[in-house]
Amino acid sequence: MSDFKDIYNKVVRNKYDFGTGSWAVVNKNIEMRLDKYGEYHPYQKNNDYQYSENEANNLKESCLSTSDLNESDISKRLYSQVPKIKYNKDLGYYSGLYVGHVVEGDYRKNGSSGGFGTWILSQLLKNDEIDFAINVTGSKDNEKLFEYSISDNLKGIKNGAKTKYYPVEFSKVINVLKENPGRYAIVGLPSFIMELRLLATIDPVIKERLKYTIGLVCGHQKSTKFAEFLAWQCGIKPGNLEKINFRKKQDNYPADRYAIEITGKVDGKEQTIIREMKDLLGNDWGQGFFKVRASDFTDDVMNETADVTLGDAWLPEYTKDNKGNNIVIVRNPVIQKIINNGIRNDKLTVDSVDENTIYRSQASHFKHTKYEMAYRLFKKQKNNEWIPKKRIEPSSNIPWIRKKVQDQREKICLEVPEYYQEALSKDDIDYFINKVKPLSKKYKNIYLLKRIISKIKRTLYPSK
Ligand SMILES: Cc1cc2nc3c(=O)[nH]c(=O)nc-3n(C[C@H](O)[C@H](O)[C@H](O)COP(=O)(O)OP(=O)(O)OC[C@H]3O[C@@H](n4cnc5c(N)ncnc54)[C@H](O)[C@@H]3O)c2cc1C
Ligand code: SF4
Repeated sequence: MSDFKDIYNKVVRNKYDFGTGSWAVVNKNIEMRLDKYGEYHPYQKNNDYQYSENEANNLKESCLSTSDLNESDISKRLYSQVPKIKYNKDLGYYSGLYVGHVVEGDYRKNGSSGGFGTWILSQLLKNDEIDFAINVTGSKDNEKLFEYSISDNLKGIKNGAKTKYYPVEFSKVINVLKENPGRYAIVGLPSFIMELRLLATIDPVIKERLKYTIGLVCGHQKSTKFAEFLAWQCGIKPGNLEKINFRKKQDNYPADRYAIEITGKVDGKEQTIIREMKDLLGNDWGQGFFKVRASDFTDDVMNETADVTLGDAWLPEYTKDNKGNNIVIVRNPVIQKIINNGIRNDKLTVDSVDENTIYRSQASHFKHTKYEMAYRLFKKQKNNEWIPKKRIEPSSNIPWIRKKVQDQREKICLEVPEYYQEALSKDDIDYFINKVKPLSKKYKNIYLLKRIISKIKRTLYPSK
């Protein structure tokens, strides 16, 4: 039997909650709110509400951390019967693997990588496969910069282009989907698509109406404070940031050397500022400033339950082209057909690639997110803390130096948000910078030590 308090304590208190909004879809007593750290979490509208056994069970089954089903179970149900589909333990099912970009129109120019995300949505609408597209656009609400929104036209779809390193939740749009018949497609991060799949196992209306899922690769989720802090470094104080483009492509630089473009008030006057990401503190994704802790407890790098997965082609042979390229993993036959037609009609330029090329583009992501999660789970278990059942078993069997990297990443993840709160209350960005710089320095020193150890090993054992 499932009990609300038990599930809530396991998932939310232990920070295994991805903030997707799935609980606010299955239960009317739950709503999503941003907390003071700028992260979405579920809250009860009425704390005295008594959940029936069925309701508590639905909460359990719609949450990735407590569901009986994992990504392998769901993806097997969805794709194992697709003719000629292949399977790779890291990439999941696939019918096609590509690296490339959209040639047609301004999709690539306006997109974060090769523009595939917006292009696929637009093709689904044009081909009458969907009535509505759900993607992430600027919010009209003063409390936040971005939110999921629904559109039924190309303009709305194009409005959502670009990566938002910013939290969103889907309960509002999925509740609209439940009220309004039609065929929908949604773009989402791995935990979001997976929890939508779990919702679809519980709710036949969602299953019937959610026709296509476009998955993004996700290094980790950021809190709203990430955008706020980037802006603060540029002179726009917290509360004064109005717009942010996290992925401004730069002429004459490789694709992975992107900038941010922000608009907000500086001394009462609206300004637009462009800064290279590499010049801002918090740019290092490995260090994970303002990472939502739950992101450390997902093993799905490649959005295995999505109909198509898109990521950045972070490979030297592709990043030299500053206009950007996607990695693309196709699983759904309709989307495969759209891509085949796009290639045939010169709307897309892609290379068909092998599994290793796709893996290489996210090699460090696999190491951290998937394989070294074993150590993070091991540490939790050792502390007698509850851990979710993952596809990776707890283990301390990683090299000593990698344990140090993991320990420091955990420290950064847990301490950065607290120092930021203190800096906000003091209205002092330097306070924050002085507190976090030593964390960052120690992290870099661990990597320095790692390089020295590797060099010594190469000297002692040249053949290895
Ligand atoms: C938080 C986050 C972390 C990421 N980490 C990685 C990574 O580690 N490695 C990697 O290869 N790729 C990562 N990506 C994906 C990558 O940045 C691009 O979004 C992807 O390559 C698609 O680019 P595009 O040019 O095809 O898309 P575009 O044509 O620009 O379209 C992007 C689509 O994604 C939607 N979208 C944007 N932000 C969000 C969001 N937060 N949640 C749901 N939908 C959103 C947009 O509304 C739009 O529909 C990440 C994306 C996000 C949002
Ligand atoms: S890393 Fe995984 S859990 Fe974290 S936000 Fe991205 S998809 Fe969700």
